[in-house]
Amino acid sequence: MVKLNENYLKLPGSYLFSTIGKKVAAYSEAHPDVKVIRLGIGDVTQPLVPAIIKALHEAVEEMGNAETFHGYAPDLGYAFLRETIAQKDYQARGCAIDADEIFISDGAKSDCGNIQEIFSADARIAVCDPVYPVYVDSNVMAGRTGVYDEKTGTWSHVIYMPCTAENGFVPQLSEETPDLIYLCVPNNPTGTALTRDQLKVWVDYANSAGAVILYDAAYEAYIAQDDVPHSIYEIPGARTCAIEFRSFSKNAGFTGVRLGFTVVPKDLKCGGASAHSLWARRHGTKFNGAPYIVQKAAMAVYSEEGKAQLKEQVAYYMRNAKVIFDGLKEAGYEVYGGINAPYIWLKVPEGMTSWDFFDYLLEKAHVVGTPGSGFGPSGEGYFRLTAFGNYENAAEAIDRIRNL
Ligand code: PLP
Repeated sequence: MVKLNENYLKLPGSYLFSTIGKKVAAYSEAHPDVKVIRLGIGDVTQPLVPAIIKALHEAVEEMGNAETFHGYAPDLGYAFLRETIAQKDYQARGCAIDADEIFISDGAKSDCGNIQEIFSADARIAVCDPVYPVYVDSNVMAGRTGVYDEKTGTWSHVIYMPCTAENGFVPQLSEETPDLIYLCVPNNPTGTALTRDQLKVWVDYANSAGAVILYDAAYEAYIAQDDVPHSIYEIPGARTCAIEFRSFSKNAGFTGVRLGFTVVPKDLKCGGASAHSLWARRHGTKFNGAPYIVQKAAMAVYSEEGKAQLKEQVAYYMRNAKVIFDGLKEAGYEVYGGINAPYIWLKVPEGMTSWDFFDYLLEKAHVVGTPGSGFGPSGEGYFRLTAFGNYENAAEAIDRIRNL
């Protein structure tokens, strides 16, 4: 009889958000008159801006006309979008990235999850702890992670790099040498970022160790500080050791529209073989191109009108982040993030676990967040709030917490 892939069977249940959902549902059922405010979601809430809606409408019209209809898109993306991205996101920042090094996809999650396929089955991965779960889970599926320890929630073959208040949330070089290093900057869940100098340490290390950095820049649009690079290619040497992932989800509200891209420089060679050629082969085999309509909508993200509207949208979320950050500080919490990212990461009160604090906040302030332990063992003792809700709710939630 055919068997299922044993690697998939090793995956522990992803109970974080389902447990949160169940706890909130039970609480709401028992307290139907209480308004629960959710600051746990990682999804955007503001509608698409007018410039994007206009571009979508125009593209839909084109699709209804035989002369302007588009069928399959090129696997790697339309040239108009790849060229625009290369110019505006990279060359304008002094990064030598060409249009044919950009691969358009349906979002950063697919690319972050799929990229491991082009590396050898025994590649050793290193991740920050806490971490966006996709990096580890996709390697579990590929059988690269060893044995799971339920007590610690870690895999024996994965190198975890703790990022805590003690090290300023900056991953430290590990004693063992990894092959693939996942970095997410600005970071989900901690909301912190790396400066140019801090990132340079990693680029130099990867080049000297022959490792590859998988750089997730899904929150690039939220960077506010000058010394935080917008792309890893701002660091000299990154073309030979780094792959970068970007998303239109959080900079343009495309979580339900779906679009992202990955940059694989042609200089990135592993044992003499080209990562660019392999990713092109993989993409061409397994992906049939992102929709024309959506790629046209993405062009509006780079128009003057679109840029101005999106700047306002990002500012709206970051105003929430400031209200949450400042309010928690005022209430006496130790708070991190929230400056270059829409995530606020706080230390839970002494003597409580992340889940204790979840229950406390739900029962006393009727506010929902995400326990830090759900993102990895070093997330224990921390808690994540997000700025993606509306302003009134963020302000009310923080008032309630302040008044506890
Ligand atoms: N990378 C990180 C770090 C994220 O937090 C998310 C979404 O929450 C993604 C990637 C997924 O982005 P996309 O919507 O483009 O798939």
